[in-house]
Amino acid sequence: MVRPRMRWPGMSNRHVAIDGPSASGKTVVSRALAGRLGTLYLDTGAMYRAVAYLALRNGVDLDNDTALVEMFAGHSLSIAADEAAPNGYRVLVDDRDVTAKLTQPDVTAAVSTVAAAPHIREALVERQRTIASAEPVVMAGRDIGTVVLPDARYKFFLTASLAERAERRRLELVANGIAVRGADVAAQLAERDRLDAARTTSPLRAAADAVLIDSTQIDVDTVVERMLAAMHAQ
Ligand code: C5P
Repeated sequence: MVRPRMRWPGMSNRHVAIDGPSASGKTVVSRALAGRLGTLYLDTGAMYRAVAYLALRNGVDLDNDTALVEMFAGHSLSIAADEAAPNGYRVLVDDRDVTAKLTQPDVTAAVSTVAAAPHIREALVERQRTIASAEPVVMAGRDIGTVVLPDARYKFFLTASLAERAERRRLELVANGIAVRGADVAAQLAERDRLDAARTTSPLRAAADAVLIDSTQIDVDTVVERMLAAMHAQ
């Protein structure tokens, strides 16, 4: 469906921060919202996944922050918009497209350990801020409203029940040819959320000024409409 783009409400800082737990719909909602606003969208989870992928490929200890940073410094990482890609972007590591690898179970299982490493976070947050300094962006992650863009004009925290998130993720995995049991998906999501919320550096949490949206019973279009309404109301 083609819909008119919304005019930005004319604020100087026009960034939108969207945080929330795993599989709460941040990626699909951010992409749709950015489409409505006519702006860039950045799924920061892909950056942490790229580091986890590289660590696994190079046999680097996932708990060794220094070794991870040294390894990461030896590779290039870029994210290119591509409407034909499943999430609307492709991730290039050393100019090779690794997008499909980043949602593989081994990367998903490793990513929260890597994302707890303070110096890896520092390196990625710097890149995220550089991107945001160039143009308005809808940025999705865990710490966007709290740490990466604390001055973002609009902040949302997207949640859904664990059962609903697990079912959405299970269907996504099945569509990608990965057969999984619902109970296993739920357990993995819960564990990733636990690690993300418990870490010392930039834990998963809602910014004090974020608008909370529970998407358990509502679809993507409705979430986006609520966000646009909240932005207009500000
Ligand atoms: O959003 P996605 O599930 O792809 O994120 C993968 C992981 O990356 C999260 O579980 C979290 O550990 C980490 N992450 C993070 N901070 C962000 C985005 C993602 O720590 N801003």
